[in-house]
Amino acid sequence: MSCYVTHLESAIDGTTLDANKIQTLHKERPLWVRYDLPAIARVLSPEKLASRAPSLWRYRELLPLPLDETPVSLGEGMSPLIPAHRLAQSFGLDQFWIKDESQLPTGSFKSRGLALAITMAHHFGIQRVAIPTAGNAGGAMAAYAARAGMEAFVFMPQDTPVINQIECVMAGAHVFLVKGLITDCGKIVRQGINEMKWFDCSTLKEPYRIEGKKTMGLELAEQFNWHLPDVIVYPTGGGTGLIGMWKAFNELRELGWLTADNMPKMVSVQSDGCAPIARAFEAGERFATPWENAHTCASGLRVPAAVGDFMILDAIRESGGWAVSVAETDIVSTMYRATAMEGISVCPEAAACVLAIEQLIVKGQITRTDRVVMFNTGTANKYLETARLNLPVINDPAGVDYSTLANNKTS
Ligand SMILES: *Cc1c(COP(=O)(O)O)cnc(C)c1O
Repeated sequence: MSCYVTHLESAIDGTTLDANKIQTLHKERPLWVRYDLPAIARVLSPEKLASRAPSLWRYRELLPLPLDETPVSLGEGMSPLIPAHRLAQSFGLDQFWIKDESQLPTGSFKSRGLALAITMAHHFGIQRVAIPTAGNAGGAMAAYAARAGMEAFVFMPQDTPVINQIECVMAGAHVFLVKGLITDCGKIVRQGINEMKWFDCSTLKEPYRIEGKKTMGLELAEQFNWHLPDVIVYPTGGGTGLIGMWKAFNELRELGWLTADNMPKMVSVQSDGCAPIARAFEAGERFATPWENAHTCASGLRVPAAVGDFMILDAIRESGGWAVSVAETDIVSTMYRATAMEGISVCPEAAACVLAIEQLIVKGQITRTDRVVMFNTGTANKYLETARLNLPVINDPAGVDYSTLANNKTS
C-alpha cells in the first residue's frame, strides 16, 4: 500500500469525497482527511517512530502523501519542547513548557501547513498557487512554492508587516498589497481561480494544511512519551493549529497510543481587538459572527471570520477547554517580558497566550499542579513594526559610568 488515506469527509455534513483528486470545500465548509487507522496501527508503533529523522515527515503513515513520493520539504517539524521555569514560577505553576515553533523554516509554524499543502498540490500536478495572508502564511507558501518550482501569487493587506512582504518577494512570489482586509484578499484569490488557473491555498480551503498542523499534536504526544499535558494553550486565527492538534489526538486514540482519560483541555486565545471565537464560545454558539473592525498587532490572530469556526469551537468544547480573549494593549509589553524571562523569541500571538494563562489562573480554571504547554507559534523577529513600539532609547556608551550599568550585583 502506498498511502493510508481512505477518503475525504465533509466537516459539516459527513459527505464522503474522493481523495484521489483535487478537492476544496464542500457546501462552503472544510474537509477532513480520513485514514485507515487500523491498518496504520498494524505497521506503525511508537518504538518504530523513535529512530526516524527529526522532521514532521517521521509521521509519514499519518500524512496524505503516497509513501513512495518525495515531499516538498525545508526540514520542517520536530520543534523543541522547552521547560520554561521562570515563566512557570511567575504563573505559580509547577510545570510549564513552551513548544517553540519560532525555529521552523520561515520563522513560524505556518511552514507545517504549507509544506503539506504545497507537497499535495505538487503531487496533483499543480503549477500555480495563490494565497491571501495578513502575515506568515504568505512567506511560508512562497518558500515552499519556490522549493517546488511553482509560481506563487500572494495577496496581503497594505498594513501587513514589511518583513512578510519582503520574504515573499525574496522567494520569487508575485506580491500584491490590497487596500482592505484579508477577507478582501481572499475574494481576489477566489475570483481569479478560473482566469488565472491558480490553486487556492487559503486556510482550510484545501484539506491538507490541517494535516501539516496536525503534526504539532503528534510531536507533542511523542515528546511527552504518549502522556499528554493537562492544558494546551494556543493562539487562534483561522484555527488550523487547534483543529489539527485535536484531530491528531483523536487519531492517536484510535491507534491505541493515547487513552480517553488523557486528553488535554484545549485553550484558544484571541485579542480583544479580534475575538470572534471567544465571543461565540461565551455565547454558547457553534458558528461565529464576523468581527467588525478587526485590529491586533498579532497579525496571525487578525481573522475576523474563520471558515472552520465550528471545527474550532467543537474541539474546544469536546476537550473541556476555553476560548479566551486578552487585552490588545498588553500584548507588546508581554512579548518583551516573556522573551526576557526565557530567551525564547516570543511572538505577539504567544504573548497573548501568556496573558491568557494568567487570566485562567486568576479565575481558577488552571491550577498549580496542571501540566501546561503553550505554543510559541512564530519568532518575534518577524514583528519589527510591533516590537519597535516598546523599544526603549538605546544609549551610546561613550563616557559611560560603569557603576550605573547593571541592575544587580554579580559578586
Ligand atoms: C497564523 C498564525 C497564528 C494563528 O494560527 P491558526 O492555526 O491559523 O489559528 C498564530 N500565530 C502565528 C505566529 C501565526 O502566523
